[in-house]
Amino acid sequence: MNKRKVAIALGSNMGNRLEMLRSALKELENAGFMVSKKSRVWESMPWGITNQPRFLNMCVTALSSLPPLEMLNRLKTIELRLGRKTGERWGPRLIDLDIVLIENEAVSEPNLTIPHPHMHERRFVLLPLSEIEPHMVNPKLGKTISELLGGLPEERMDWIIKI
Ligand code: AMP
Repeated sequence: MNKRKVAIALGSNMGNRLEMLRSALKELENAGFMVSKKSRVWESMPWGITNQPRFLNMCVTALSSLPPLEMLNRLKTIELRLGRKTGERWGPRLIDLDIVLIENEAVSEPNLTIPHPHMHERRFVLLPLSEIEPHMVNPKLGKTISELLGGLPEERMDWIIKI
């Protein structure tokens, strides 16, 4: 099967957040995602439930021939391997891995929606992703990552490090 480009968002707001991101990158490679581009690491305020520690966020693009549901399974396995407990939605987490976009693909399953249904309203996804894939298109909205980012209200985010 052909390899397709997939954009993945990584986030952590518990434990050694940077180490969690580094471990997740290694796990992605071992799980069949050939990581081709990595954004810088950004710090952002929590979304949804706001009285929790700040997140470190980054995005990567990878090439993969896995079917979308298998991608999701593998991301969930990585989350569990890195110690994430199934817990409150939007609550503190050691590591969160989301599929943001898959090239030429729209998925609407009970447990998987691609493009990610919230990607266009989250600066912590669009800003890192715009560093590596400004022209990647959300096929459902017909807009590029830079266009979607340009449509968001101002919000402070600082970049921390390149890993
Ligand atoms: P979260 O708590 O953010 O890890 O997300 C919880 C659930 O969202 C997961 O169990 C997935 O089944 C579901 N989900 C739906 N669409 C996506 C997506 N594009 N990427 C990752 N998870 C998704």
